Amino acid sequence: MKSHLLAGIAATSLLAGCAAMTEPLEATGDPVMATAIPEGTGIFAQPSELPFHAPDFSKIRDSDYKPAIEQGLAIHKAEIEAIKANPAAPSFANTIVALEESGQMLNRVLGVFYAVVGANTNDTLDAIDAEISPKLAAHYGDISLDPVLFARVKAVYDNRAAMSMTPEDAVLLEETYEQMVHAGALLDEGQKAEIKQINTRLSELSTDFSQKLTQATKDQALVVADASALAGLSAGEIESARAAARDRGVSGYVIPLQNTTQQPSMPALDVRATRQQLFTNSYRRTDRGGSTDTRANLAEQAALRARKAEIFGLPNWASYQMYDNMAKEPQTALDFMGQLTPALAATQRREAGVLNQAIRADGGDFTVRPWDWDYYAEMVRKERYDLDEEAVKPYFEVDRVLEDGVFFMAEKLYGITFKKRSDIPVYHPTVSVYTVYDADGSELGLFYFDPFQRDNKRGGAWMSNFVEQSKMAGTKPVIYNVLNIAPPADGEPALASFDNVITMFHEFGHAVHGLFANQRYASLSGTAVARDFVEYPSQVHEMWATWPEVLQNYAKHYQTGETIPQDLIDKIEAASKFNQGYSYGETVTAALLDMKWHSLSAAEAAAIDTPAEVDAYEAQALAELGLETDLVPPRYRSSYFRHIFAGGYSAGYYAYLWTGMLDHDSRQWFRENGGLTRANGDHYRATVLSQGGTKELFQMYRDFRGRDPKIDALLSAKGLDGSSADAEADGSDETGG
Ligand SMILES: [Zn+2]
Repeated sequence: MKSHLLAGIAATSLLAGCAAMTEPLEATGDPVMATAIPEGTGIFAQPSELPFHAPDFSKIRDSDYKPAIEQGLAIHKAEIEAIKANPAAPSFANTIVALEESGQMLNRVLGVFYAVVGANTNDTLDAIDAEISPKLAAHYGDISLDPVLFARVKAVYDNRAAMSMTPEDAVLLEETYEQMVHAGALLDEGQKAEIKQINTRLSELSTDFSQKLTQATKDQALVVADASALAGLSAGEIESARAAARDRGVSGYVIPLQNTTQQPSMPALDVRATRQQLFTNSYRRTDRGGSTDTRANLAEQAALRARKAEIFGLPNWASYQMYDNMAKEPQTALDFMGQLTPALAATQRREAGVLNQAIRADGGDFTVRPWDWDYYAEMVRKERYDLDEEAVKPYFEVDRVLEDGVFFMAEKLYGITFKKRSDIPVYHPTVSVYTVYDADGSELGLFYFDPFQRDNKRGGAWMSNFVEQSKMAGTKPVIYNVLNIAPPADGEPALASFDNVITMFHEFGHAVHGLFANQRYASLSGTAVARDFVEYPSQVHEMWATWPEVLQNYAKHYQTGETIPQDLIDKIEAASKFNQGYSYGETVTAALLDMKWHSLSAAEAAAIDTPAEVDAYEAQALAELGLETDLVPPRYRSSYFRHIFAGGYSAGYYAYLWTGMLDHDSRQWFRENGGLTRANGDHYRATVLSQGGTKELFQMYRDFRGRDPKIDALLSAKGLDGSSADAEADGSDETGG
């Protein structure tokens, strides 16, 4: 997955129920007690005076963040106390809207702080981040579980049938209420106490899992004594392995482990014994007993989660986690994945057959094992597709891709236009800023583009807002896209890889979801939608990267001006469909494993305790999937599945696959309706991109598509419908994480 999702979730969950605003509390029309709400000071105390309230990076100093966050917290607390102490009867205005309007200064500073921590950090900012994270979690946790506040919210909620509200008001009320119920507001005191204990223990276990896994991943790096074991790697890679050994004070060569089961050097390693050792180190990194074994930890987490769900009267953790997702019920997600597995298993067997042929042709007398897969797949890929990534790059100059590709697409679809501006300060000199104009010439918002890799930028690509759109606050969206494209050498043009190009279209899909936001409340605005929906508009926009009219407009050789030859594009698209049984299969397997752990009842989960019982349950769960898991193991095994045991993705890893279904089903609609047209873009904007989180997501999808989503287009795109020869290209670099 792209890490912008993580940032988005961190930001949304932290900012849930809060929003920027310009109206004072008095605007609610109720008497407000003269509760002492502290005055903020410093640059974040008031909205920036720059256009669109864009952050003024010419004035913001690192030393501004911590005091502003602390003041923001104190002000927000006082505002919450004022809402609770209001002598007037609870009303939508004095409770729900007042909550939505609270925390402006905190939102203002955090919106900027998390942007720079992600894209341009330093030790000072990292230290502030570590210090404030638990404080913020406690702060928002306290608000969700405040009994006096909840009593007011519930009073308004219980009276909802008698109130006249706009549909958006009704959604805001319902979500505010449901979030508090989900936190435990309706439980009795004994249950609340147990939930608090479970939450504390789960948080400790998650940190412990993460630390153990980080240590195990480091410890289980492959060490070889002799360079001959690394035959197949380039001279530079072997030198890196020698340097890695030196850094660790060991002799020989070291290949560090990456997070996933398969390792990046697998396709190149000629020596089978080395591959097997590297795979074993990876697959068994956290099940070796001792201080880095995570199995007892994850068993306890699974049991506590199941118990927590039980307290809420739910059958399992997945039901608890998925309550506000599009799929909602675990069974919906399982049924969806169940439609993938038969064809996927057949594809895996077919691919294994091709690789076994390649092994024999190469003089091998064995059948393919997981540690052989990438090596022989790469061999077949080179033979069949003869694709040189480097030959493609000269056609993808970054500015041309952005302005003649991404912006060109946006104008064709939505009629929007862009004007680069140099008067808005940025946090790094390579960041550029554009004003975005709607079709009628009015200003839509600001778009920041931060393309290049830096040592102080985290990996991946993401989108977020500096300023959230809100009609109540009178704010327009201020949006940024961050990528990690290799920076150009001095005097050279900046060139993107094909993957980079797809990512640019993807992230811009998130950007238009934010730019077209048209909500009253910031907490329902733009990309404030469920995890199994938010990646859908972004994935759809990847389709336009290779749409002929778009491609021919931007993919021009930076020296000759020649348009990219069609056969090069055909090769890229054909190569991208190769090996899906493995690459898609390992993701599906991981998603199913996630669901297996989180579909356990409290009693079932409590019975899995020891490391041996964890192994036995995992083996049984994998065997039940109907996939070739001996050949294609999960992308993450239970004991190193950080997303679900140390991240926020438990019972949520399926979301990548689910949004893939929405994506491909929607691509089919665009193709059937004439492709890149204003009419199609306007329809998508009206039904999806401008709706934020104001509608039930199946309804939103039906408004666009005219029916519920179907899986067929996804199956076809993945070559799982028996017609892989004419399957649609899938440029997604998102699936997997
Ligand atoms: Zn994304």
